[in-house]
Amino acid sequence: MASKLGLRLAPAACGLSTGAPIASRRTLSSLASSRSSALLPRPRLTLPRSKLQQSFRRTYADGPAPEATLSPAAKPKKRFRFLRWMWRITYLSVIASAGYVGYQIWYLRNPAEQFEPDPKKKTIVILGTGWGAVSLLKKLDTENYNVVVVSPRNFFLFTPLLPSCTVGTIEHRSIMEPIRNILRHKKATVKFFEAEATKIDYEKKIVYAKDDSEIKGDKMDAEIPFDMLVVGVGAENATFGIPGVREHSCFLKEVGDAQQIRKKVMDCIETAVFKDQTDDEVKRLLHMVVVGGGPTGVEFAGELQDFFQEDLRKWVPQIQENFHVTLVEALPNVLPMFSKQLIDYTESSFKEEHIDIRTKTMVKNVTEKYIEAESTLPDGTKKTERIPYGLLVWATGNALRPVVKDLMSQIPAQKNSRRGLEVNEYLVVNGTENIWAVGDCAIANYAPTAQVAAQEGAFLARLFNTMAKTDAIEDDLKALSEKQSKAKADERNQILAEINERQKQLRRTKQVGPFQYSHQGSLAYIGAEKAVADVSWFSGNIASGGTMTYLFWKSAYLSMCFSTRNRVLVCLDWMKAKFFGRDVSRE
Ligand code: FAD
Ligand code: NAD
Repeated sequence: MASKLGLRLAPAACGLSTGAPIASRRTLSSLASSRSSALLPRPRLTLPRSKLQQSFRRTYADGPAPEATLSPAAKPKKRFRFLRWMWRITYLSVIASAGYVGYQIWYLRNPAEQFEPDPKKKTIVILGTGWGAVSLLKKLDTENYNVVVVSPRNFFLFTPLLPSCTVGTIEHRSIMEPIRNILRHKKATVKFFEAEATKIDYEKKIVYAKDDSEIKGDKMDAEIPFDMLVVGVGAENATFGIPGVREHSCFLKEVGDAQQIRKKVMDCIETAVFKDQTDDEVKRLLHMVVVGGGPTGVEFAGELQDFFQEDLRKWVPQIQENFHVTLVEALPNVLPMFSKQLIDYTESSFKEEHIDIRTKTMVKNVTEKYIEAESTLPDGTKKTERIPYGLLVWATGNALRPVVKDLMSQIPAQKNSRRGLEVNEYLVVNGTENIWAVGDCAIANYAPTAQVAAQEGAFLARLFNTMAKTDAIEDDLKALSEKQSKAKADERNQILAEINERQKQLRRTKQVGPFQYSHQGSLAYIGAEKAVADVSWFSGNIASGGTMTYLFWKSAYLSMCFSTRNRVLVCLDWMKAKFFGRDVSRE
């Protein structure tokens, strides 16, 4: 019956065109109503639609070229084909991704043999293993130099996901990349000393370093000579000399800080539910105060409130009434670097999440159990109050490291600089010839962000690679000139041609423009699976906030993670937190 229908309604017979399925359907129905019973018995055409389609599908499945027939069956067939292709694409993508991840893992675990660079080559000393330094190391051709890295931290830390470590959404090791892994994958060997640079003698070209780790060998101090020096030591936490900050608060810059916060949150909770605790003490212990409404403070406050909403209140229901997060900010609003609508969005979202924002409130003093803050009231008058806290997290931005301050004091051109090492457009520290600075310790009129530090590091790698090539070409030119002066007349023309070629190469190589920062946008997580983003788009800017932005935030940071290993671990942590919840044990 089906085949009969198929035959009778074939395009040739009915005069239908394969390219017009809608017209075909119309013709089919008009055909059904107007055809005389002599051609086709009426009841056959009034078959229930689904049956008709089924019959067609069967016919086509076994039949010849699909183009040969045009009928109501075209639609289901296309859908079927589409699904088949989707399935093929999906499994090919899965196989390709698995292959890529597999290759990356194999590559990470099997570094190639390295060679020792020529000791006659220049020595570059790089201070730090943060965003600036690692981005430089990643792209630097290490065979051109003797590279020495000095840092008290033998790993790179992906700071954007550090706030997630404070509550256990992500485990800290997932966002750490051992510096040994990074250096072992360079073509030529790179020396690494786990030590803190205590002084840079700019005249003598020596870095003094000290091993400050727990285990000490016979030798704890070292003098490291350099031809070129890159300072990428970042910044330390700003306290503005406010009494009690260092003694009583937690910072959020390093892995140790995140671990300490995680422990203290749980300590406050377990202490608050201790037998016969007074009401006031319970309230104090469960009051989590964050000072600084920049992105660090906002992201941490959001993560902490998530922890409470999604896990803590479930496992320790006694704390429900009193657990409270307050964000204290001296300026009239939080997130000053974001656009106005995103600031408003963040503030209203915090209100919904029950996070208190205290703007125009400047903390002046910190004691063991409370902070003293001065707030400006709407009429302009000032009010000082004591705010009790159980946990205090201090996130008020950056300050200079002592080694940077000391270097600045040696260079007259840096006399008037207050915020860091002033650099020129090639990131050379003003007043020096062989010292460069990247990241938070350098002042190049950009915000102290990972984005800036990474681009500066990559720029220096390009610059140094070019300098090495230039040196090599210049050496060649010198040798060729000498050869030419001693050569016989018939050889001279050939050498001259070679010299011309090298000079052309030199001109091409020397063309490295000054550093130009390209701002990709700002992103911040604000809790409750929402994020805000100010993203650069052509010459403009797109501001967005909400759950879709949160997904964008997640995918952006996942793609920026240092290695495939980090990416896989972060994904697993996210899944673990989603399925099992965060771990509420205190280590
Ligand atoms: P760092 O990355 O801080 O690295 C400094 C390095 O120097 C470290 O390895 C340190 O151990 C080493 N060092 C310190 N002292 C010495 C010494 N005396 N001798 C030798 N080495 C030393 N930016 C963004 O763009 N996007 C974000 O989402 C973002 N999120 C952040 C979240 C948090 C919680 C924090 C704290 C910062 C965030 N930032 C973000 C800012 C970003 O992390 C910094 O701007 C960036 O780390 C600066 O890079 P850097 O290389 O200058 O310094
Ligand atoms: P920040 O400098 O951005 O903000 C610190 C805030 O603390 C300021 O708003 C300041 O007014 C406030 N403050 C200072 N002293 C105070 C006091 N005594 N009482 C109350 N408030 C006080 O600092 P941050 O958030 O640590 O960020 C540091 C750098 O890292 C910034 O450049 C930031 O852009 C970058 N960062 C970026 C991201 C991101 O893009 N998601 C995340 C974290 C950090």
